[in-house]
Amino acid sequence: MKKITVLAGGVGGARFLEGLLRAAPGAEVTVIGNVGDDITLHGLRVCPDLDTVMYTLGGGIHPEQRWGRDDESFGVARELAEYGVGPDWFTLGDKDIATHLVRTQMLEAGYPLSAVTEALCARWKPGVRLLPATDDRAETHVVVRDEENKRSAVHFQEYWVRLHAPDAEQIVFVGADEAKPAPGVLEAIAEADVIVLPPSNPVVSIGAILAVGGTGKNIRDAVISARAPVVGLSPIIGTAPVRGMADKVLAAEGVQTTPSAVAAYHGADLLDGWLVHDTDVDQVAPVEQVGIRCRAVPLLMKSLDATAEMARATLEFAAELAR
Ligand code: GDP
Ligand code: CA
Repeated sequence: MKKITVLAGGVGGARFLEGLLRAAPGAEVTVIGNVGDDITLHGLRVCPDLDTVMYTLGGGIHPEQRWGRDDESFGVARELAEYGVGPDWFTLGDKDIATHLVRTQMLEAGYPLSAVTEALCARWKPGVRLLPATDDRAETHVVVRDEENKRSAVHFQEYWVRLHAPDAEQIVFVGADEAKPAPGVLEAIAEADVIVLPPSNPVVSIGAILAVGGTGKNIRDAVISARAPVVGLSPIIGTAPVRGMADKVLAAEGVQTTPSAVAAYHGADLLDGWLVHDTDVDQVAPVEQVGIRCRAVPLLMKSLDATAEMARATLEFAAELAR
């Protein structure tokens, strides 16, 4: 398998990619990154998922937290707090701010996000080609009930970080319909030998990427019509996400928090194969019932070795499906 294209969110996607690069050292890996979480704070454009992939693969990630920079300091955040300047629910570290300064400066000079990301990666050398799903603005918003029980839409970061993912009524990919896939995205899908959906959030990471393009040339249709087998890994083990609050956004989409429900949510038109955790063997039959090949293998990314083994299983499964 020479060309591997991965649709990735933040932490789950980045960890999987570390294992993939270990498992397939000779492969040409293109990552289509989620930009639905992007936000402007203090005038700075912040792209949390792209940066998590870039820092993780470039060796600059905070090792325990798995997002943000290692050896980080928070002098700027403390000074902003002294001024009483918010938001106080989203803290940017000093080193991280340098990334956002470079990005914002380049965006303001007229460079598209894809070119900016390439420039940032020239420093980090992540070992993959990292492409934002789109250069256009496509932001994930979440409809919740406010204190007076009125429907209100908040930016995904506000929903996730400030509100800690309360029950949601709807997920809206604002701007995704009009957004165009970034240069290279459709080609990376069409030319791939294998397409992987890593254990990223199915709705606000994978779903946000697939939604780009709306009724025009969109990413979902490109993946569906690609010649490569499409294999996904379940971010759900048992009846809970391994990390985070994906159950809340799945519920908003009317999807149960089980590996088989998530596979059905992606759909048999999109997925050729789906991997579930080895303790979820009971999920194999319901997945195959909807027309998606399924296999149970260990899916816990508890070490780089374990993650590389997951990536190997993914590529083996894909090779089998391609026959
Ligand atoms: P985010 O953008 O930082 O939220 O990261 P992603 O969207 O890429 O991934 C989040 C998903 O990764 C969550 O739904 C977790 O359940 C899943 N996840 C995290 N660690 C693991 C793991 O070790 N195994 C599996 N199968 N899923 C994981
Ligand atoms: Ca994210």
